[in-house]
Amino acid sequence: MLPTLVLVGRPNVGKSTLFNRLTGTRDALVHDLPGMTRDRHYGRGRLGEKPYLVVDTGGLEPVVTDGILAEMARQTLQAIDEADAIIFLVDARAGLTPQDKLIADRLRRASCPVLLAVNKAEGMNAAVITAEFHELALGQPLAISSAHGDGVSDLVAEALTPF
Ligand code: GDP
Ligand code: MG
Repeated sequence: MLPTLVLVGRPNVGKSTLFNRLTGTRDALVHDLPGMTRDRHYGRGRLGEKPYLVVDTGGLEPVVTDGILAEMARQTLQAIDEADAIIFLVDARAGLTPQDKLIADRLRRASCPVLLAVNKAEGMNAAVITAEFHELALGQPLAISSAHGDGVSDLVAEALTPF
């Protein structure tokens, strides 16, 4: 069984961008159709000699019937169930949001490791942008850029350390 890394976070933080970078595909969402809520995407990644599975939660996030908060809660709980490690993405440019706090409340109960990744950090001072995310109490926030690749290998290496 490959270790499974699950990407969690509110819409627009960059989960699919990170998924595509990790799996090496640019169009992981290509099979999704408007109006469908397809909320899992599985791909294979490899860090050096270590293969892993990566799961993008979120699907087509704007199309939800029960409201975005209920949908995020459901996806987050599912993610906790199937993950060997969770990568929780937040957005350096948007800063800490109430939705991030709600997700963090659930992730603190996860039995697997949770890594907190502060995305969209390219060109920004890591210490400055990660500072406000310490209050989520999920350990040291790691500054990354899914779009540019900064910090991504270090993040995955840390997620895979136990495996
Ligand atoms: P998702 O909704 O969490 O899957 O987020 P997406 O991967 O669809 O990204 C949402 C938006 O953020 C898109 O416009 C991306 O191009 C942008 N984005 C994602 N990662 C980065 C990043 O590292 N830096 C910047 N500046 N933008 C990013
Ligand atoms: Mg997405």
